[in-house]
Amino acid sequence: MKVPLPIPCSECGVFEPVDIHLNDDSPVWVCKNGHRNQGLFPLDFTVGKRILVKSFYELVTRRDFSMSIVFAAMGLECELSYRFAKWTQIEVGLRGDRRLDDEEIEKMLRRFRTIADRLEATCRLLDTRGIDQYVDDTADLRDTIQNGFPSLTLGTLAQDFQQTVFWPRNRILHFGYADYVQVDAERCYSIATSELRSSVGWTNRSTPRRSHRTKNRASWHNFTLANFA
Ligand SMILES: [Zn+2]
Repeated sequence: MKVPLPIPCSECGVFEPVDIHLNDDSPVWVCKNGHRNQGLFPLDFTVGKRILVKSFYELVTRRDFSMSIVFAAMGLECELSYRFAKWTQIEVGLRGDRRLDDEEIEKMLRRFRTIADRLEATCRLLDTRGIDQYVDDTADLRDTIQNGFPSLTLGTLAQDFQQTVFWPRNRILHFGYADYVQVDAERCYSIATSELRSSVGWTNRSTPRRSHRTKNRASWHNFTLANFA
């Protein structure tokens, strides 16, 4: 899978979508003016966040709203699984047990009947308060959720994420419904990305680097999803 990332050229600053392979952490690309670029993505620019970039591309550039919804749900699910695996491995390591293999992690993920269960369990691996209490106790997150996302309610956040992001995805993929419009896709994308911020574990608060004068290596070192939002 390739993700079209609008990365600025380090020489001339031109923005153009650059097709980056999903697991390429140090891509090399030549801009349309012939400048060679190479850089490193930050470690927290995970596969899930890259898929969310693809959702945004479908939403804004291609205006394929159903596809954008599918990618928003896919990105969020990917991110949840990544975090669950990461923090489960840390927990196992702290106990002194051996590292689990992918199949064992997959078996654990399958135990969750719903996405809401997986989301809640993943949050509790990091903070025993769970997602609702964590957001309620964190003033800026609480304000963001309460003022910016009328579809989300404190007390039922995990279920609300499931209902607002994954149910539209299921309508498309399970029932062939393809009449979603721009506002539907915008809602899905913004809620999926808000989950990344509201869940425990979101640590990337860095300001996106706008300067294009820094030469070559690490020129998009601070690249984040915020470049698009
Ligand atoms: Zn250039």
